[in-house]
Amino acid sequence: MLIFSVAPTGKVTSEVFIVSGKMVNFYLIQGTEGVVAVDTGPSKQDASDQLETLGIEPSQVGAVFLTHSDYDHTGGLALFPQARLYLGQGEEPLVTGKVRRMLGRFNKPLDRPYSLLTDGQTVTEAGLTMQAISTPGHTPGSTSYRVNEKWLFTGDTVRLVKGHVVPFINFINMNTRVQMASIRKLARLDGIELLGTAHHGVSYDYAIAMQAWRAAS
Ligand SMILES: [Zn+2]
Repeated sequence: MLIFSVAPTGKVTSEVFIVSGKMVNFYLIQGTEGVVAVDTGPSKQDASDQLETLGIEPSQVGAVFLTHSDYDHTGGLALFPQARLYLGQGEEPLVTGKVRRMLGRFNKPLDRPYSLLTDGQTVTEAGLTMQAISTPGHTPGSTSYRVNEKWLFTGDTVRLVKGHVVPFINFINMNTRVQMASIRKLARLDGIELLGTAHHGVSYDYAIAMQAWRAAS
């Protein structure tokens, strides 16, 4: 599918790895006391194969932070049975079957207890400071994560087209207008050295990526 441009598995900074799972990327961040995952890709097998190429043991991953509950982000969760699980508070109705995702379908329930994060909430995992930033639109509980104040992972809240942020694909967003407000909110963040998307690779130039949205906010 040409609408996505997924990056190959590898290092994007000395402590951040991008992991390829066919049509989607997820991220592993090396902390002083272990590894954190932001999303998990579409399947346990994919995640397992890719971690092997990176030389990272699944048991090193102590926590998984989900940007949202779509299967291509949660399918690899089973590879990390020991990991603590976090997601945005607004996503809970999608994993408990209270709200349908799209085309009448429900997202799958999660396989373990989880902690719900509110907007701006910070938790420490693996020695990393993980801040949840509520960015609804793609789904009601879509959440971006700012790690150690400098690396930002946005799930399906943004696409990158030639280095510039644009909204995600309208057809699979639950509310693109709300998403655009979320992007304007993200555009106000300072000190971001890496922007990591789930389907369109990374940007190292946040000012350029967010240029149009900063002017609008
Ligand atoms: Zn996705």
